[in-house]
Amino acid sequence: MIGKPKTLREFMQAQQAAAERKQKRKFKKREFEAIAKASKTNRNGPRTNVLPKIGSVLPRKTLVARLDAIFSLFVRKRGKERTGGTCELCGKRPIEVCFHWVSRGDFATRWDPSNAVGSCKGCNFEETFRKRKYRDMHIDLIGLDAREALEAKARTITHFTDADLRERIEFFKAELGKSI
Ligand SMILES: [Zn+2]
Repeated sequence: MIGKPKTLREFMQAQQAAAERKQKRKFKKREFEAIAKASKTNRNGPRTNVLPKIGSVLPRKTLVARLDAIFSLFVRKRGKERTGGTCELCGKRPIEVCFHWVSRGDFATRWDPSNAVGSCKGCNFEETFRKRKYRDMHIDLIGLDAREALEAKARTITHFTDADLRERIEFFKAELGKSI
């Protein structure tokens, strides 16, 4: 069904469909947990390679999630090296998350190290409703030209192939490995 339900019957159908989707997700989660458990218990016995490994054919969603995770680790670690552990934005609270200057919804700049800093959760949350303040802060730091260049890059349509994603995962892994 597309669009908002107009009648009670449509509303009931939408509710039913939502409940079914929820049930499906629950089932998938349980299935995944069972696989993870099985692979753990087999650690000392015959190893059944049930969990996908990097390099094998991973679903694209998994590749993106892995890259997000490793990029976030990289940014937070770099932040801690820069400040000793305090938020790169407010300098008060500890670094907890990876903050994006230009929305991470723009894939072209989602994994660009110049588009991210390690921040506390407070700053990261505040940015969602005080975009202007953080944009101005960024301009103070890097200058208007550089900010506009980043925004222009963010607006470009960039297609990352699975190989591109894997390459970036390996790149940030290597960067992390340098001092961990
Ligand atoms: Zn902060």
